[in-house]
Amino acid sequence: MNHDDPVGLPLTDGPFYAHTRLPTKHGTFDVRVFRDAAGAEHLAISRGHLDGGESVVVRVHSECLTSEVLGSLKCDCAAQLETALAAIARTGRGCVLYLRQEGRGIGLGNKIRAYALQEAGADTLEANRLLGLPDDDRSYDVAVEMLRGLGVRSVLLMTNNPLKLDGLAAAGMVVRGRVPCVVGLNPVNRGYLETKAARMGHLYRVAGGADEETAPTAAPSPEWSATA
Ligand SMILES: [Zn+2]
Repeated sequence: MNHDDPVGLPLTDGPFYAHTRLPTKHGTFDVRVFRDAAGAEHLAISRGHLDGGESVVVRVHSECLTSEVLGSLKCDCAAQLETALAAIARTGRGCVLYLRQEGRGIGLGNKIRAYALQEAGADTLEANRLLGLPDDDRSYDVAVEMLRGLGVRSVLLMTNNPLKLDGLAAAGMVVRGRVPCVVGLNPVNRGYLETKAARMGHLYRVAGGADEETAPTAAPSPEWSATA
């Protein structure tokens, strides 16, 4: 027994500060907490054996308090998180990295300021520029460090955002493919999603009908089905 394991349990796990099993409405996940150099605590929420894993389905998800806690209709974050957790629970293998970088990295206060400018007519990119903020201030170094800590060798990334594919690859992770995650469209966020598609290169069409509103994750890639 030592300072770090007061009850005789190994409370840390490799680079992770804490880990446990957590029962949720989707099933039970392994949850690990990673503390970055700045002190922010990020979560790895996983199912199945990932050590040495190739083509592991991974969602790199940025915290969104307004959507996930308040049920805001201005974005699609809560629906994407729910879809990813449900998919990983269903297939029994995969991981959601929940990164504490609100508002694509600009922070909660700046995100709410940007919302105020959007109320006055700016779109999401214009609002950030009016505030002198970058469009996307996220770094994927922490995500890759966490994946390495889990022993993941390569991933199928659950995303519609090509910047995430590039960002993860640039940070040193092998990205073998993409699993689409198109959910959460509603009348309020239509303009925001259209901006992401038209001006930020997100890989979906917003113009579609009800099928795109409710059908999750269009067809998973063949690799994903094969490992499911
Ligand atoms: Zn959001």
